[in-house]
Amino acid sequence: MDSSGWFRLAGFLSIFAVMACAEIIWPARQAPLSRWLRWRTNLSMVVLGTLTGRVLLPATLVGVALMAEENGWGLLHHLSWPVWLAITLSLLWLDLVIYWQHRLFHRIPWLWRIHKMHHADSHIDVTTGLRFHPVEIAISLVVKAAAIIVAGAPAISVVIFEIALNGFSIFNHTNIRLPQRIDDALGRLIITQRLHRIHHSQYQNETDTNFGFSVSLWDRLFRSFKSRALQPDETLRVGQQAYPPTRQNNTVWRLLTMPLDNQVNDDTKSADGNATDDFRK
Ligand SMILES: [Zn+2]
Repeated sequence: MDSSGWFRLAGFLSIFAVMACAEIIWPARQAPLSRWLRWRTNLSMVVLGTLTGRVLLPATLVGVALMAEENGWGLLHHLSWPVWLAITLSLLWLDLVIYWQHRLFHRIPWLWRIHKMHHADSHIDVTTGLRFHPVEIAISLVVKAAAIIVAGAPAISVVIFEIALNGFSIFNHTNIRLPQRIDDALGRLIITQRLHRIHHSQYQNETDTNFGFSVSLWDRLFRSFKSRALQPDETLRVGQQAYPPTRQNNTVWRLLTMPLDNQVNDDTKSADGNATDDFRK
């Protein structure tokens, strides 16, 4: 593993450890299944996703950024702008691309089949933030590689972005609840745990909001921000109706084959939350 790989691993492990401790000490909600059962499966998906990435792109995204730099590919390599500006713009660009990628994973039916597995988790905690289908990991890798090449993103910005994306995903899936006033204040800037749980609601008109992983800017800009769900956070129903919290719905094989489920594919997104627009701020 190269130095940026070790850097990413260290960043990932420290954020994971801190947030896991926080949710064990101050849990916001009770999990319907045992931690062991869910963690075993969710963490297996991390291993499968990482292996998929390695096979598909052995050079990693940092390698893609370096290749673009060597060949002069991408907008920023043709502009002699200060490094700090190039890094800032690259981070914003990559975050914007991930926002729209996430939105399309909800909008386009065959992409939803793949992303649905992430939303089928019956409880939201640090490991949910890492539970993605290997096909979603693969698609996302191709999208990110293309975004890096188009922009000519500096390699350092790719290292920062990868650590931040992973870190924010762990952060906003953590099973903690900040005091409402702090949550509302922070929500002006970033997607908090409570805001992200609205995205994991069983009601489609709540699921299709708060797509951002880090800053709340994109959701506000593209009108997908929702500050309040119909139900309070304490009783918000998360997960997917079609996948009740059972041991059978939580095996690695079950998660991997979820995109092929025809019988439940149509009604998983039709749970009706009714007039939640009244709660939209
Ligand atoms: Zn989603």
